[in-house]
Amino acid sequence: MSAFKDIVEGSQVYSESFTNGSLSALPQARLAIVTCMDTRINPLTIFGLDVGEAHVLRNAGARITPDVIRSLIKSINQLEVERVVVMHHTDCGAAKIKIDGLRSAVLNATGSDPDGVEFHLIGDVDDALAADVEAIRSCPYFPVGTAVAGMLYDVHTGIVTMKHETFVS
Ligand SMILES: [Zn+2]
Repeated sequence: MSAFKDIVEGSQVYSESFTNGSLSALPQARLAIVTCMDTRINPLTIFGLDVGEAHVLRNAGARITPDVIRSLIKSINQLEVERVVVMHHTDCGAAKIKIDGLRSAVLNATGSDPDGVEFHLIGDVDDALAADVEAIRSCPYFPVGTAVAGMLYDVHTGIVTMKHETFVS
């Protein structure tokens, strides 16, 4: 039996009522959202958006890593995105996990020490969001004037708070 039986069945149900075949690949809200992989975050729903409206880039902690920059370069320069929001959240695992515990858990489970992996864990929550906004604002590969926001999502209330709003300059 497949480990993926549930989602294969889910996809079959989805395709039976699928109506999005004529959507453009260009994000209609001219927006890219960078957020955490946390299961409690449904980025499009949180912002009142629908499929086809935004690029969504996710990783542990919503950190601006080289791979996020790689994707945003394409979003902004080729796919008409004009604004980027970085949305961190309360109760984030990336801010609770300690690197020593994570390394030892991997070592215990696999026999391999992930000492060469940069996990981009969060130390101070406010500092991390500010740093991620600044990493986008100052990136030389984004056009001057691209709008950048840093927001915090409260997983217990559903409220998003704007913490930073700036432009690439
Ligand atoms: Zn998180």
